Amino acid sequence: MRRTLVVGNWKMHGSVASVADLLDALQAGLNVAEQSVCAVCPPAILLAQVGQALAGSSIRWGGQNLHHRPQGAFTGEISAAMLADVDCQFVIVGHSERRALFAETDAVVAEKFIAAQAAGLTPILCIGESLAQREAGEALSWLEGQLAAIVAAAGLASLANAVLAYEPIWAIGTGKTASPAQAQAVHEHLRRWVAVQDAQLAANLQIIYGGSVKAANAVELFSEQDIDGALVGGASLDAVEFAAIGRAALQT
Ligand code: PEP
Repeated sequence: MRRTLVVGNWKMHGSVASVADLLDALQAGLNVAEQSVCAVCPPAILLAQVGQALAGSSIRWGGQNLHHRPQGAFTGEISAAMLADVDCQFVIVGHSERRALFAETDAVVAEKFIAAQAAGLTPILCIGESLAQREAGEALSWLEGQLAAIVAAAGLASLANAVLAYEPIWAIGTGKTASPAQAQAVHEHLRRWVAVQDAQLAANLQIIYGGSVKAANAVELFSEQDIDGALVGGASLDAVEFAAIGRAALQT
């Protein structure tokens, strides 16, 4: 059975001073059983601090990005091994902001995905279509292409240790959520795309949704058969809201 997973992407927000308050409030809002479905992805500079604060709790943590090479002269970059060294379990790869603002292609995303798994991390692979692609009826073929690029590079079996995040670009940070039915239709399609190649793998694949998820829409989204949780941006910076989304995961 697939567990519902709620991951907070703090993006470029937070400070040494704010972490303790945010995590204290988050832990207070979740009971022990509930915590096991949640993870936070703070900016890299706060990871060690977050790891120390969450050690012993069942909230996990992860990176927002990595470089695919293990080490070397790559000023400003962070390797998968460095994330593993501060006990990250997850790392986000292919977020639409990285693709759009930092020119990350499918090939770059695939390299990062492979490097993450090689270091024992679980990549959270983000794929998503633009509004123009959706309106042109091209969303599903675009998403298949993004997923196929990773599968071609890393192999289908690599999905057994990955989380797939469907994040329609038009719903990220806009307050516009895909309706549960819209998101479900995409998740079902993606699962079927994998199932054609490996039914068991598809049945176990965790496919989470991202795009303006809040406490107010989380239960409805998580009630859909193929929506296994959420990647949460803005709302993850509000501990009360994020804890409520975490609790919503348990109601479904
Ligand atoms: C995201 O950035 O992954 C995201 C889903 O953001 P938001 O929840 O703010 O739309």
